[in-house]
Amino acid sequence: AYNHVLDIHKQHLSPVMTAYFQKPLLLHQGHMEWLFDSEGNRYLDFFSGIVTVSVGHCHPKVNAVAQTQLSRLWHTSSVFFHPPMHEYAEKLSALLPEPLKVIFIVNSGSEANDLAMLMARAHTKNTDLISFRGAYHGCSPYTLGLTNVGNYKTKLPIAMGCQPTMCPDIFRGPWGGSHCRDSPVQSIRKCSCAPDSCHAKDQYIEQFKDTLNTSVAKSIAGFFAEPIQGVNGVVQYPKGFLKEAFQLVRKQGGVCIADEVQTGFGRLGSHFWGFQTHDVLPDIVTMAKGIGNGFPMAAVVTTPEIAKSLAQSLLHFNTFGGGPLACAIGSAVLEVIKEEKLQENSQEVGTYMLLKFAQLRDEFDIVGDVRGKGLMIGIEMVQDKMSRQPLPIEEINQIHEDCKNMGLLVGRGGIFSQTFRIAPPMCVTKPEADFAVEVFHCALSQHME
Ligand code: PMP
Repeated sequence: AYNHVLDIHKQHLSPVMTAYFQKPLLLHQGHMEWLFDSEGNRYLDFFSGIVTVSVGHCHPKVNAVAQTQLSRLWHTSSVFFHPPMHEYAEKLSALLPEPLKVIFIVNSGSEANDLAMLMARAHTKNTDLISFRGAYHGCSPYTLGLTNVGNYKTKLPIAMGCQPTMCPDIFRGPWGGSHCRDSPVQSIRKCSCAPDSCHAKDQYIEQFKDTLNTSVAKSIAGFFAEPIQGVNGVVQYPKGFLKEAFQLVRKQGGVCIADEVQTGFGRLGSHFWGFQTHDVLPDIVTMAKGIGNGFPMAAVVTTPEIAKSLAQSLLHFNTFGGGPLACAIGSAVLEVIKEEKLQENSQEVGTYMLLKFAQLRDEFDIVGDVRGKGLMIGIEMVQDKMSRQPLPIEEINQIHEDCKNMGLLVGRGGIFSQTFRIAPPMCVTKPEADFAVEVFHCALSQHME
């Protein structure tokens, strides 16, 4: 049966749909932080379907709400009203500071950022959009212009944002910019200080100013930033950098967009939203992934003024966005996060786990960096700490495979896929964190033999 699945995949599924592992996992069932394959093996899921299963696979409360809604009403489209949408809008807006109170519900992170791009342009009447090197904001033709990490960076002129009528140019700021340009490992800072005390901030700000002063960025519509870069391998900015960047963008007439697709909903522990960890107030916030615990759902939240500018510029329509099923699930997810204190758990277990993983950095020369916040942790692999060259991909693949064989699923990120990413469902426990660290330790020891 397994080989049949592989045959079907090869024949009928697009070759862009690649899977982790030489022998891809065929998963049948999930329960909270656990996944079960076709042979009955169980795995501790420390990547949550790419940072998406926020409260746990098939969480009983979310499942019950989904099932009730499933037999009541699935779909209306947004031209009709239904209670789950309004209940959800009230709940979500209560979690955001003034004046971020107007909500658009869509189906994916790419769609959310597409809409945010339109909003920024509609509101400012400018065209240019700025994102960082290493950013991931989506895979749609529009957002592809903002995405600039590893294999996702398109070499073809297919990103809409690159078409002169839509956008004269898409700019990338300094993160991993000239400061690190000589280093193939984009996300490793030349300095090894923690973000809180990183002295490179002023240098990045100078580079950012240069970016804004170039002719194409003079009519800036919007600046997109992930509070922590996820796909790029959990890359953090120096303390205070984003705040200054926001001020500079606003001075030039642009709006600031926080892409909370990975960092929102309590994952970072200390705050519900990643932007709060930078002490900034965005004009637009986009969110997806954890919002629906795996059910397709995403949202854009903005100010009444920006929402009005969009409404005056075009009739925006989305057939599935804000459907009864998605909204009921979204409400249940918010309730579970609150009832089960999952943000607090992210903080507690995340902080505990970061310290434990950091010990691996001291023990193994191939662990170049361990960083992150809450339950968003990156472990960057290098040939050795002196060279800072990425560990060859075959070796990284082997460690990844070994972890899987010992029952631990982790993610990957970075331009060379050199960073292991740890982002379990937020219900993860300390003993499970211990297990993960032990498996990792084992895989690394095996590698060094
Ligand atoms: N923004 C960020 C920060 C992301 O990580 C992703 C997905 N990896 C997206 C946007 C796009 O989301 P989606 O895959 O749902 O379109």
